[in-house]
Amino acid sequence: MADNTSIRVAVRVRPLLENEISKGSKEVVEVVDANKQVVIRSVDRDAAYTFDHVFNSKTEETHVYKSSVKSLVENLFKGFNVTILAYGQTGSGKTHTMGTTYNGDGPMGIIPQAIVDIFNFVKDNFSYDFNITASFTELYQEVLYDLLSDKPRDQCTLDIREDSSKAIYIPNITEIEVNCVREVFEILEKGTSRRATSATAMNAQSSRSHAIFTLNLSMTHKEDCMMNKQGKLHLVDLAGSERPKKTLASGNTFKEGVNINRGLLALGNVISFLGDEKTQNAFVSYRDSNLTRLLKDSLGGNSITLMIACISPADYNLDETLSTLRYADRAK
Ligand code: ADP
Ligand code: MG
Repeated sequence: MADNTSIRVAVRVRPLLENEISKGSKEVVEVVDANKQVVIRSVDRDAAYTFDHVFNSKTEETHVYKSSVKSLVENLFKGFNVTILAYGQTGSGKTHTMGTTYNGDGPMGIIPQAIVDIFNFVKDNFSYDFNITASFTELYQEVLYDLLSDKPRDQCTLDIREDSSKAIYIPNITEIEVNCVREVFEILEKGTSRRATSATAMNAQSSRSHAIFTLNLSMTHKEDCMMNKQGKLHLVDLAGSERPKKTLASGNTFKEGVNINRGLLALGNVISFLGDEKTQNAFVSYRDSNLTRLLKDSLGGNSITLMIACISPADYNLDETLSTLRYADRAK
């Protein structure tokens, strides 16, 4: 393995938002950088959790990238599969942190920074020829959609398959060869504009689906083809982790909540198995959800995973914040 462990967990606390400050919300989350700890101050008792990285509400996008993601992207060039997941309740900062909706200006989250970094690496490396392709999918109610297809949404559903070497592949997916940063940014923007959203009581903009942006890297050594390498980078903006009741769920929205939890539940089980050395060889059930089936060859084994748990600092989010911290704690 590239480093000591294949699963790393980071926690990022977003700042209080304007409307939260004006309605008098209080901060109940404290980050202790020196101990890599997140401490929850509550009436009953304080609770402290330790992670690989902790980011307080003032942390800039470049710091998040450089300290927790950059080295993983470098491992991609060594032939590892790398997965970066943003987990948390709706409104906790997942999309902000991943940069999923980056459209050329504003803060650059992880996805645009990774794209820039990858092309810098390619530019500086003369030993290999590179072939890079991008794809972008959305998993909604256990159905996988191709966000880069020009077909109507109901005609661009995809299947998830595993080949004889246990690599996951998706027949008929739109996979676009990319040659520069700008091309990838355009693909990101196109895919983001096709995502399904449905209003919930918590956040009208909330996305109730998992967005999976993937870059496949194939490296051909110019002198020795025995040194050829492949790497796959999944950048995943997960669906909101809040329980359905908090969104005043009913009807279709409730069904969404139930299916979303299936993916997040299976993901939590898989990564907690992988993070626990004692159970490393135990049976890991990737088949429980399409999210884990899709990520199967990019979680565990020859791969490195970073989960960034995003949390709100506000008192009224305390229950969901604790639930996110427990989920993240189990993944270590
Ligand atoms: P999610 O994707 O988890 O639903 P968002 O990324 O949309 O959450 O964030 C919710 C709101 O909080 C947005 O208005 C976003 O701009 C803001 N926000 C999130 N994280 C930060 C941050 N680190 N710094 C400043 N604003 C943030
Ligand atoms: Mg979002």
